Amino acid sequence: MGRRKSKRKGAPRKKNIQPLPILFDCPFCNHKQSCEAKLDKVRKIGRVTCTVCQEFFQTQINFLTEAIDVFNDWIDACEEEN
Ligand SMILES: [Zn+2]
Repeated sequence: MGRRKSKRKGAPRKKNIQPLPILFDCPFCNHKQSCEAKLDKVRKIGRVTCTVCQEFFQTQINFLTEAIDVFNDWIDACEEEN
């Protein structure tokens, strides 16, 4: 009798504590968690770079800007282009 190992677990619930860097899905190559967001608060520059396709986006930030905001700006910019 063959035992079938088809465990189907839902995504394990992790606590929402994310260490740096913050990762997002890439809108260009669609890789999951391949985009790294970095905020340079000194120079007021936010930058998201995809480690897979090397696509990147840079925008001005302020002291309230979070990594997700930079990423959202990137998505907006992509949509405007298309
Ligand atoms: Zn990419």
